[in-house]
Amino acid sequence: MELRWDERGLIVVVAQDHLTGEVRMVAWMNREALAATRECGFATFFSRSRGKLWQKGETSRNRLKVHGIAADCDGDTLLLSVEPEGPSCHTGRASCFFQSPEGEPRDPAPTLLALQAVIAARASSSAEKSYTRALLDGGAPQIGEKLREEAAELADAIAEESAERVAAESADVLFHLLVGLEARQIPFREVLRELARRAGTSGHAEKAARKDGGAGPQQV
Ligand SMILES: [Zn+2]
Repeated sequence: MELRWDERGLIVVVAQDHLTGEVRMVAWMNREALAATRECGFATFFSRSRGKLWQKGETSRNRLKVHGIAADCDGDTLLLSVEPEGPSCHTGRASCFFQSPEGEPRDPAPTLLALQAVIAARASSSAEKSYTRALLDGGAPQIGEKLREEAAELADAIAEESAERVAAESADVLFHLLVGLEARQIPFREVLRELARRAGTSGHAEKAARKDGGAGPQQV
């Protein structure tokens, strides 16, 4: 793959959470920044305003550990698969993409992460009595009971019901699973980390990415 650096010697770079798929930020690299990223294993960009390299998080410590580098089909954009060590936006938000072009608030998180955020908001809101809030108030016994019930319905659906029913029951199981994780204050991201570990796409992939200068995002 021949990279297509622009007339300033730069290429646009998208940083994506390697576990959740969340897009964290966009920045620029020159050849030197790409070499530095491969060398140190942390995202290093080229600042157009300051005219020099900067390692993301060099002052805030919110670095982006690079697990893989992919180039797009025509070689003019790079995708970094990263493990963020903190918020990626200078505003303190996880992702730079938190608003619409008109400035309306937007949650850029992928579906399950966004749902986890909604559940967390319900948990802390005293305003309205929601189904989620009631489940959380019931604690582990009630959440566990609901999960068993939903899992049984899913098992039946998989055995003998339509694809739509299987999808709907799967959604119920995932929703109640997220409520259970919220009750235990465990981020869904940790579940994804465990799946990635089992699929061998976390630690090993990271080493491989550094050794060969950037394997693409790993396939499960
Ligand atoms: Zn930002």
